[in-house]
Amino acid sequence: MEELLDQILNECRPYTKQGAVATYIPELSKQNPDDFGIYIISSDGSRFSAGDHAKHFTIQSVVKPVLLLLALMDNGVEAVRTRIGVEATGKPFDAINVSDKSLVPEHFNPMVNAGAILLCTMLKGDSYSERFARLLELIRRLADNPEIDVDEAVFRSERETGFKNRALAYLLKAHGLFKDAVEDVLECYFRACSIRVCSRDLAYIGMALANHGRKFKTEERFFPAEYARFVNAVLMICGMYDGSGEFAVRVGVPAKSGVGGGIMAVAPTRMGIGIYSPALDEKGNSIAGIQALERLSRRMYLSIF
Ligand code: GLN
Repeated sequence: MEELLDQILNECRPYTKQGAVATYIPELSKQNPDDFGIYIISSDGSRFSAGDHAKHFTIQSVVKPVLLLLALMDNGVEAVRTRIGVEATGKPFDAINVSDKSLVPEHFNPMVNAGAILLCTMLKGDSYSERFARLLELIRRLADNPEIDVDEAVFRSERETGFKNRALAYLLKAHGLFKDAVEDVLECYFRACSIRVCSRDLAYIGMALANHGRKFKTEERFFPAEYARFVNAVLMICGMYDGSGEFAVRVGVPAKSGVGGGIMAVAPTRMGIGIYSPALDEKGNSIAGIQALERLSRRMYLSIF
């Protein structure tokens, strides 16, 4: 298996040259576009890795499925559905919908920024720092890694330059989609995006979703199976933003990308996969990461379709 992973990385490495690291968050521009790593954990507990799998990067949008999970754990499916939609956006992750008609809860998919900002307002906690602390705690538990923490430099960089996210949050607030102070909500969102992980951590989180909420090889349950089905379905529809249809055809598993270069993929009942390769395509998805997943899916018959 590790031989297969090495081979896949070698085949896909040239694609890193066709992409570029994100620069709109200044701190992310310091990433090395040549980094490329993969980590897999399968349902029998075996683990495989190749390349720069131990390198750290910020989780960015890969936090969105965990935000959704915590919102579900805190409120249940019905309450979450009154505040957020599940339809595909077909739009980039930071799109601003300007028609008043579309500024209603059912038009905000939780896998794009506007929806994820809304998710922060659904978490339980007396303060936004408590809400964030609960999110971090859940990530540490799912990834089985108590050392996961925030990359403060990336967090500051996002907070200082996140004007578009600020605009989105004000638009949501202006239309009555939440009541709390915008800066408090954004503090939680920016911190969530700035959590430092490695491919292994993403593979573990993916495995919890692949295993329908159970910790692999144990009886321990992180969350109900119903929430895994909810999150995986939303990932399938919108996890790769406006590249989700293409990804469904080429790879065929629920997955989430982030502009930090991470991809978490979920092969239901079979494996969790974490990839890091920060050279992105024009949609903000890891270009070599998608190539690697396509090859892995073909060779291991991972597509759910
Ligand atoms: N923190 C990033 C942002 O809000 C997350 C976007 C992403 O990873 N696609 O712009």
